Amino acid sequence: MKAVVFDGKCLAEKIKLSIRRKIKKLKLKPLIVSIRAGASPASETYVTRQEKSCIAAGIKYRKIKFPENVSEKTILKKIQTLNDDAKVTGIIVLLPLPVKINTLTVHKSIKPEKDIEGVNPDNTGLLSRGKAIMPPCTAAAVMKILKSIKCSAEGKNAVIVGCSDIVGKPLAMMLMRESATVTVCNIKTKNLSSHTQKADILIAAAGVKNLIKPSMIKRGAIVIDVGFNAAPKLKAHRGMTADARAAKNGICGDVCFKAVLKKASFITPVPGGVGPVTAYQLLLNAVNAAANKK
Ligand code: NAD
Repeated sequence: MKAVVFDGKCLAEKIKLSIRRKIKKLKLKPLIVSIRAGASPASETYVTRQEKSCIAAGIKYRKIKFPENVSEKTILKKIQTLNDDAKVTGIIVLLPLPVKINTLTVHKSIKPEKDIEGVNPDNTGLLSRGKAIMPPCTAAAVMKILKSIKCSAEGKNAVIVGCSDIVGKPLAMMLMRESATVTVCNIKTKNLSSHTQKADILIAAAGVKNLIKPSMIKRGAIVIDVGFNAAPKLKAHRGMTADARAAKNGICGDVCFKAVLKKASFITPVPGGVGPVTAYQLLLNAVNAAANKK
């Protein structure tokens, strides 16, 4: 068996086109404001990429950067101003915030309607009732990928490796709503393989490279790799495998891609899998936020 390899860029491109169509019909054009504090090269790269994809999709993007020693009060005040500004339709707070700032307090302060990352507890809480105003982007992206391959989760064993507030937990709720039998594993889970081997749908979101080996996979499983980890860089050469290309970029997922490819029926690569879909899910949330503005 050789798995079908998902093309995240292709699905992202489709989402981008639907975003463009939606924007044309909007009276209020979406404006995203991102807030970050301190110097983080990862956030810097992320914001630059985000700005590029916003411009490509026709969304305005503004960046606010605070110094490392910014107070929580200053950040909350800025968010309040953005909440009150009718032109601002989406607010993003880049993590990590400096240690003395309470991330939950900051997330709570974002108006749920402008919370395009779906991190405000109002949104995460309502998700369990299927009523979140904004779905968390990565979890929504995984569900979109399943939908794109016409995979119904109903009655399937879905195993999620990783139970973070932003990925594993919201995804578990979304899969439960689709009537999947959901198992959520964490770092303390005993005998991880005994769970993953039962998965019809396996979602790896632990942030641990090469965690998921072929022996841990049920033959024919659908494998979604959310992990995004640094890998040693390789020199490019002609005829490189997809795995090697990913390593060349200095990035890999949680799944041993090349080996699992032979056992799964469907697999998402890293990079080029979940990532691009998540990026455009964020923009879709931003457009929906602008569309819902009264
Ligand atoms: P996190 O560190 O907040 O959570 C990791 C989770 O994995 C925890 O619940 C932990 O208990 C579990 N875990 C860690 N090691 C484990 C192990 N050996 N066995 C079982 N469970 C284990 O991370 P996060 O923010 O949820 O992100 C997870 C990964 O997904 C990271 O690599 C991150 O970069 C990536 N990510 C990708 C996207 C995307 O769009 N592609 C978006 C968000 C996060």
